[in-house]
Amino acid sequence: MTVDRTGVDLADALAWLEPDARLRAAEGLHRELVVRDVGRELINLASNDYLGLSTHPSVLAGAHDAVDSWGGGSTASRLVAGTTRAHADLEGDLADFLGFSAALVFSSGYLANIGAVTALAGRGDLIVSDAGTHASLIDGCRLSRARVVVVDRGDVDAVAGVLRERPEERALVVTDSVYSIDGAPAPVGELYRAARSSGAALLVDEAHALGVRGRGGRGLVDECGLSGAPDLVVTAVLSKSLGAQGGAVLGDDAVRAHLIDRARTFIFDTGLNPAAVGAARGALGVLRAAPDLPDRLRANAERLAQRLGADRPAAAVVSLIVGDPAVAVDAATRCRERGVLVGCFRPPSVPHGTSRLRLTVRADLDAATIDRVATVVGGVLSEMGLR
Ligand code: PMP
Repeated sequence: MTVDRTGVDLADALAWLEPDARLRAAEGLHRELVVRDVGRELINLASNDYLGLSTHPSVLAGAHDAVDSWGGGSTASRLVAGTTRAHADLEGDLADFLGFSAALVFSSGYLANIGAVTALAGRGDLIVSDAGTHASLIDGCRLSRARVVVVDRGDVDAVAGVLRERPEERALVVTDSVYSIDGAPAPVGELYRAARSSGAALLVDEAHALGVRGRGGRGLVDECGLSGAPDLVVTAVLSKSLGAQGGAVLGDDAVRAHLIDRARTFIFDTGLNPAAVGAARGALGVLRAAPDLPDRLRANAERLAQRLGADRPAAAVVSLIVGDPAVAVDAATRCRERGVLVGCFRPPSVPHGTSRLRLTVRADLDAATIDRVATVVGGVLSEMGLR
């Protein structure tokens, strides 16, 4: 019998999983799925359903209609037979709403980011990545085979310096517009100017800004006056404020044509489910008809942050750092036992020593509910000596 240093029989190829799981548990890094059950709903401040649209009648109707017309699946990759009239219409709606000439829909935001990065940068190119970016952009960078330089969050001077000194001709800068972990905004306008003055393109992930920032929820790129700007590519995620599922990349016609030919996560993946396509179109309709929804969301976020003594949020995330991962799990569990579901973020989602409760506020919660959440979460933090 061959044994490794933990005493595991190597003939049993997956026997290492158990000791590995025990190690994760000892470090407070074991994860369990929280099952949401009909009839036992908690006050949900862990979702990304910022505007409460996932259950909005127009969104449900959009999903139902699309399923009636196109079925339960899109039946093939987009390039083969998986592009329906609904997909084409959604792309038109997204481009129109966000002020770009073209959009291309992917079956998730994750795949949209990987597809965009790997299609826009490859071997022999440079990517400058902001340290606060989402895992999907990080994975895109890794898969691209480009040289990747990671700079501190929001450090525009560092980005400009790396771009200036590069030997590569082509360069791409990637960033989230609102950082997913704590809802802080990135310096999108300055990053764009730094990239453009150096002949680089900028890819901005608007996942946590769409429906939250900008005119009528058109995002931080809109707020910076950059919608449709040259050398700017934007990822829109349909699974958060739009309450649906899927992702899209926005740019000009050349970007769209390039992604259709080159983005492997577009080419080899089955097209977005019709239900999600219909839901996203319904949600865009709601957002157009109710441009004040993002204002309601931000008012709720400010109310909650103020009640919890947290900094004024720039978007819809209230992030309460507790440090130790096991303590964060304990705090989140206590909140859940009192009817409030909060996000509990630990490494590798956040840096070591910064495990936290992450509360995502919603536009469809009334003031009394926000105050109840603050009482529960604030009470848990106090009784655990965390504030
Ligand atoms: N980008 C960011 C910033 C995100 O937070 C997420 C979702 N966690 C994604 C992309 C991926 O989007 P999706 O969940 O639709 O795949």
